[in-house]
Amino acid sequence: AAKRSGRGWALYSTEQDRLGRADLSFRSELREAIRNDELVLHYQPKIDLHTRRVVGLEALVRWDHPVKGFLSPDRFILLAEQAGLIGALTEWVLERALRDLVRLHHDGHLLHAAVNLSARSLHDLGLPASIETLLARAGMAPDHLMLEITESAVMANPSDSLAILTELDRMGVRLAIDDFGTGYSSLAYLKRLPVDEVKIDKSFVLDLATNESDAVIVRSTIDLAHNLGLSVTAEGVETQDIWDTLTILGCDCAQGYHMARPMGLNALRQWLRTSPW
Ligand code: C2E
Ligand code: CA
Ligand code: CA
Ligand code: CA
Repeated sequence: AAKRSGRGWALYSTEQDRLGRADLSFRSELREAIRNDELVLHYQPKIDLHTRRVVGLEALVRWDHPVKGFLSPDRFILLAEQAGLIGALTEWVLERALRDLVRLHHDGHLLHAAVNLSARSLHDLGLPASIETLLARAGMAPDHLMLEITESAVMANPSDSLAILTELDRMGVRLAIDDFGTGYSSLAYLKRLPVDEVKIDKSFVLDLATNESDAVIVRSTIDLAHNLGLSVTAEGVETQDIWDTLTILGCDCAQGYHMARPMGLNALRQWLRTSPW
């Protein structure tokens, strides 16, 4: 690149260098964090609206950073993808979630665990075999694992995604379409994909009890999913009114702060012993 003198450029260049270096060190920090177990899983219970029982858990990753404190996944998942670390991160999450699930099963809580997959994972044709190995190592039946994938991740690479999801389905792993309604939905694809569940994004749920157009969207999503033989989970259930509305609309499961926030394994075990669900 051509060198040019001038204060503006120099400042810009210094700033660029600084950002570049910060990015680089953040990247190697993340690599170390995965290796050194600085990542933590929190689990959010998923509750059946018909039986009012806990049926599953969603694993949500956090980074317990030594300096910056607890970082939410929105602050490092994209970076992990860009840095080529998402495969290692996903494997860490799967392994830990299965290990924790085995422990919960020993406690008598026969729940399933849902793990989020990033778009990049749907390019990895080796993913089903890796998951098969992880399940075998944990001694966990495949139908206790659910994988959440977004519509846009599938659309970004339809043919590889279909191959990967078909293989996972054949293995008996359960599949859910996450953030439903936020991407450019292709109903034709929903019909073709071997998914078991649709998760309605919280942006349609948070104001469900008062916003008429959200209610229309949620109602038609539930009807569509049921007509295709899929079950429906709503995320972002923050109030009793939303719970009641979802019950009336025939939704199957709910997740949200009204019932429980995501929590660490010990807090979860305590919660499972004492909660009314
Ligand atoms: P998501 O999969 O849509 O997860 C739901 C998010 O909504 C979580 O945020 C959860 O804590 C939050 N939430 C749950 N109940 C409520 C509620 O009642 N009200 C509100 N306002 N929010 C609620 P979180 O944990 O910060 O995760 C953000 C996103 O990061 C997730 O969105 C998911 O896309 C991604 N993510 C989390 N863990 C992983 C992971 O292990 N791998 C990958 N690839 N992505 C992950
Ligand atoms: Ca999810
Ligand atoms: Ca299936
Ligand atoms: Ca969501």
